[in-house]
Amino acid sequence: MKCSTGEDFSQESLIPYGNIELSPCSGILNYGQGLFEGLKAYRKEDGQILLFRPEQNALRMKAGAERLCMPSPSIEQFVDAVKQTVLANERWVPPFGKGSMYVRPLLMGSGAILGVGPAPEYTFLVYASPVGSYHKHQRSLNLVVEEKHHRASSGGTGGIKAVANYSPVLNALTRAKAQGFSDVLFLDAATGKYIDEGSACNIFSVKGNTISTPPAHGIILPGITRKSIIKIALTLDYQVEERPVTIDELMDADEAFCTGTAMVVASISSVTHQGRRIEYKTQADAVSQKLRETLTGIQMGRLEDTMGWVVEVN
Ligand code: PMP
Repeated sequence: MKCSTGEDFSQESLIPYGNIELSPCSGILNYGQGLFEGLKAYRKEDGQILLFRPEQNALRMKAGAERLCMPSPSIEQFVDAVKQTVLANERWVPPFGKGSMYVRPLLMGSGAILGVGPAPEYTFLVYASPVGSYHKHQRSLNLVVEEKHHRASSGGTGGIKAVANYSPVLNALTRAKAQGFSDVLFLDAATGKYIDEGSACNIFSVKGNTISTPPAHGIILPGITRKSIIKIALTLDYQVEERPVTIDELMDADEAFCTGTAMVVASISSVTHQGRRIEYKTQADAVSQKLRETLTGIQMGRLEDTMGWVVEVN
């Protein structure tokens, strides 16, 4: 048995959104052999549509495919499929400043396989949906530290966007939401002292001029927003440290924030850990606000793209 690398993904078709057929024996349904990505298309003021660093999503999918013993589309195939999907749905991309189009690439073992093993066939598909501005609904997040479950451990799949990483989070997330929290904060599985990440976001802690965030060495997801925010923070003369951050340190920070494609940058208003709740000062979103302004400015074409991050679609 060997990992499949031969799929060429060159047979393309654009089809209306709808159900797809899958064998009950497919690798994705039985063994969770699947990966997804998430990115957004924004409309510029002049009507042009922009993608933000889509090749980074392609690279992350490639790394995930290797881990899950799957073939993956080339960077060009990935970006081209994303562009074509956005173009075919161009009229659904919201106007400038009114939201974005969320694009979801999905790679899965679609072939039938009865015993545990890599699927004999793979499907790469992309779908899209318009989404409103996250910050219209929710400005800052109340996090609760999850005490019972971990999201990822050393040697596992936390560092890739495996579909199977998300169902183990649902129990904790549902409990947290039922108690009025916005999201869960997972601690490291080895010691329970260090922060990992939220259910779908990376976490940053701010003390003075220094911004700290856990290193992306295989346990947390290497967020594309995370990576971009680190770069922006450095250009704005903040000190950035990628190192293990304890939960105590986060709770003692001046400010804390989350990053991810959905929220872009969202300030954290409170953290609750073992029954103790700390609130960050209401004005304490100065750093995250500055970083968000810069990042969204680049993503929406309001600010000059000096890093070469945006890709024009139309
Ligand atoms: N961590 C997890 C677990 C996620 O699901 C996401 C969302 N993709 C992130 C972090 C943030 O990654 P990105 O900035 O690439 O959206």
